[in-house]
Amino acid sequence: MVTVDFHLHVGKYEMYPRWVHEFQRKMNPTIYLDYEKYVSPEGILRLLDEAGIEYGVVLAEYNPMVTGIVPNEYIAEFCGKSERLIAFASVNPWLMADPARKFEEALSKLKMRGLKIYPSYQHVYPNDERLYPVYRKAEEFGVPVMFHTGSSIFQGSKIKYSNPIYLDDIAVDFPDLKIVMAHGGRGLWYKEAFFLARTHRNVYLEVSGLPPKNLLKYFPELEKIPDKVIFGSDFPGATIKECVEGIGSLPLPESLKRKILGENAAKILEL
Ligand SMILES: [Zn+2]
Repeated sequence: MVTVDFHLHVGKYEMYPRWVHEFQRKMNPTIYLDYEKYVSPEGILRLLDEAGIEYGVVLAEYNPMVTGIVPNEYIAEFCGKSERLIAFASVNPWLMADPARKFEEALSKLKMRGLKIYPSYQHVYPNDERLYPVYRKAEEFGVPVMFHTGSSIFQGSKIKYSNPIYLDDIAVDFPDLKIVMAHGGRGLWYKEAFFLARTHRNVYLEVSGLPPKNLLKYFPELEKIPDKVIFGSDFPGATIKECVEGIGSLPLPESLKRKILGENAAKILEL
């Protein structure tokens, strides 16, 4: 059985502002006993082991107005320590004259294997034309693009940009692009997110940052999209092991749990 945590943040302590640490400390106090030790390649691998998870997707970010900057280079080097760690790049069209070129460098030089876009943290709509060359690149390389969708409690974020409905344009315009909706439209847009995952063969519902025990409340028809649901923890905003156990105790068929906990992710990551 292949298992994947599709959503890990591992920036150095000083890369994040105070309010990010305050939130994470509440959600995951243990790692703050020794941040450097837990949030290191060895530390993450140990936490994945404890949770029974084989692979982890590790995310870069360029969100200076909200959560900080964790550069592509840093994430690439972090993931270089183990084949179990899969590096995702990020871009920000406000900071980079040519985001597609920056992304291509991340793929070809840094060997990164996907992209995360943070619309509400960057104040950019997912269907912004400046990002279209980036999506073309991702489609060409066959790598997934993940979008933050739904609410965020961090100051400076504007959640209108994270309505999953804007991903509809991208799903239609890039039919071979693998699109991952992180947090499943959290809070405001569960229906929209579910509808897109059900309608578009290239759109996936990633459920990090949601309490697993509420998953069937948010998505009562989850069993109708068995090949589209993807597990993530949003570490350090949550404890990886508790999230895995939460999925494990849902009243769903074991075969579907295996898909959620890794088989679906393995397919789009081509593991
Ligand atoms: Zn995230």
